[in-house]
Amino acid sequence: MAELVDAADSKSVALIRRVGSIPSPGTIQPMNFCSNCGSRVVLKVPEGDLLPRHVCEDCGTIHYLNPKIVVGSVPEYQGRILICKRGIEPRLGFWTIPAGFMENDETLEAGAAREAREEAQIDVAIGSLLLLANVTHARQVHVFFRARMLAPDFGVTHESLEVRLVTEQEIPWNDLAFPSTEFALRRFVEDRAAGVEHHHVAEMQRRFPGIGAASPPVRAE
Ligand code: ZN
Repeated sequence: MAELVDAADSKSVALIRRVGSIPSPGTIQPMNFCSNCGSRVVLKVPEGDLLPRHVCEDCGTIHYLNPKIVVGSVPEYQGRILICKRGIEPRLGFWTIPAGFMENDETLEAGAAREAREEAQIDVAIGSLLLLANVTHARQVHVFFRARMLAPDFGVTHESLEVRLVTEQEIPWNDLAFPSTEFALRRFVEDRAAGVEHHHVAEMQRRFPGIGAASPPVRAE
């Protein structure tokens, strides 16, 4: 807070007080230097804005920090579901579905297919939208699709210790990596049993231990 007030001009402070939405220091991602010119940045509310941003007073760049999109899928082959045991932190050793950060210049569907290749060496046809999850505490939005594996071929990668095709009964519900993983898998099997393909929208709570730390932000989920 001291840093915020010190860095802000009086107008910004007045605006912050009026808006009444000062993020606690722990929720502001650290940034020291301007990536455009290398000068030190200050944390302040830019004119006309409502939230504090890292601002470079030398070159005028305002560094906006926004949520990241995680994209993935529930791949299926002849009724079995593909899951991966995470080979990287966070949640190393826990089970998940192929998913990761969306890249620039790709669509959601292309990102989901790419993650399936990267994490499980599988080729998939991306299907209907399964889940749109707000993961506000991790500053992420998760977008998961249903997917059909084109062949029963899969393998481990540097991101996955183990990859399995499992029946619904074999899903390790107690050893899943993230709340959104569980939510997606539960809706997937429920919908499949009902013969429907709904899309679900949900807010993920910080329910699993050791994940979702507000600062520094979780790199991969
Ligand atoms: Zn600058």
